[in-house]
Amino acid sequence: MRSIDRTRLAELAEREEKRFVEEHPKSKELFERGKHSLLAGVPMPWMSEWAGPYPVFAEDAHGARFKDVDGHEYVDFCLGDTGAMTGHSPRAAVEAIAEQAAKGITLMLPTEDSLWVGEEMQRRFGLPYWQFCLTATDANRFVLRLARALAKRPKVLVYSYCYHGTVDETFVVVEDGAARSRPGNVGAQVDPTVTTRVVEWNDVDALERELAQSDVACVLTEPALTNIGIVLPEPGYHEALRKLTRKYGAFLIIDETHTICAGPGGATRAWGLEPDFLTIGKPLASGVPAACYGMSEEVAARATGVHGDEPSDTDGTGGTLSGNALSLAVMRATLERVLTGEAFERMIPLGKRWADGVQSVIDSREMPWCVVQLGARAEYWSAPKAPRNGGEAEALDDRELDRFLHLYALNRGILLTPFHNMALMCPDTTAEDVDLHTEVFAQAADELIT
Ligand code: PMP
Repeated sequence: MRSIDRTRLAELAEREEKRFVEEHPKSKELFERGKHSLLAGVPMPWMSEWAGPYPVFAEDAHGARFKDVDGHEYVDFCLGDTGAMTGHSPRAAVEAIAEQAAKGITLMLPTEDSLWVGEEMQRRFGLPYWQFCLTATDANRFVLRLARALAKRPKVLVYSYCYHGTVDETFVVVEDGAARSRPGNVGAQVDPTVTTRVVEWNDVDALERELAQSDVACVLTEPALTNIGIVLPEPGYHEALRKLTRKYGAFLIIDETHTICAGPGGATRAWGLEPDFLTIGKPLASGVPAACYGMSEEVAARATGVHGDEPSDTDGTGGTLSGNALSLAVMRATLERVLTGEAFERMIPLGKRWADGVQSVIDSREMPWCVVQLGARAEYWSAPKAPRNGGEAEALDDRELDRFLHLYALNRGILLTPFHNMALMCPDTTAEDVDLHTEVFAQAADELIT
């Protein structure tokens, strides 16, 4: 097994940063200008957390590629952190946007497209009833409210180092066996340890211990964790989760926002999961804000009575633009013509090709690293064994190494998802794009590993 020389890593990182600055003068200029009107020079703080000293400013993006303002072209494996898993600006979405925008964007009235999308979601995920909103965060927040109202219990249960959007209850981790507000949880409305029980992923005993307190309305989880790197469920974990949530009367909410990469019906369909609620957002309308949540027959029957005699416009779910005509038209076009079963048949083998390519570099260089694949998404870990849960994944975090690898890739025309060593395939990604990544990863490894 070979190791990383930290002095060499620092020298290489400095060299790559110098190259980045030399090759991206226009992005630098825009970043400096941005500092006079935008907090930290960018529209949102995380946009300054890319591997370089400042972000590249994008000029245009098509399919699996984009160009920056300095004229460089990149293969995009980040794809807007799944928002552009459809590829950038797919023709079907662009046409649907133009067509619907010309005939009404938002009306507070249903359109026929909503029925088409509801029927398609039924077909893909197996849940019979659906509602629409704008972001996956919204979908999760609204479903947590419904679950608490129906279960008449106060708490939710999540997994340590999960991410489900800016949902107050979910910013909580396990530390030394106890629940704790997640580091970086800014201005929490309520200490999340009051609202939430938290356990490590893949720990059946801890799950049962917490559910047995009989105050948990619902468990909210991704089918596999994808936001602290990819952490897969161990064999039997989902069966145990479903059995225990039923035993202790808690709803099971599956968030498919990222795991839609497992197939057209996400991991729910691919693995035969049986959630009470399902939430999903991001790529549903090719990046136009759109999200939805589905529920089982039994939940729907109870949910219709949840308002009693009160009007539902101030119930804490939904918003004025939820279910708007434009989002629904683009969702329909995306599901009908872009994220099709046939597209997944191309994307998933490319995910495997990416993982196999990286694995071959790891093997031939005897690196103590490993790769995890989940459908059209794959990721490498700088550890011999993939982590079992969020706590283990967090402990493997190596910012310095990740930043170097990302910047090395960026300087050679490849964009990876920040905060992870993760790549996502879209319908336009090609085998050549994947092989370019393998080649660049091999070069980085040869420079780094001693
Ligand atoms: N659920 C999951 C699994 C996510 O990964 C994310 C965002 N990364 C969200 C929900 C929230 O999505 P959004 O920020 O679009 O609301």
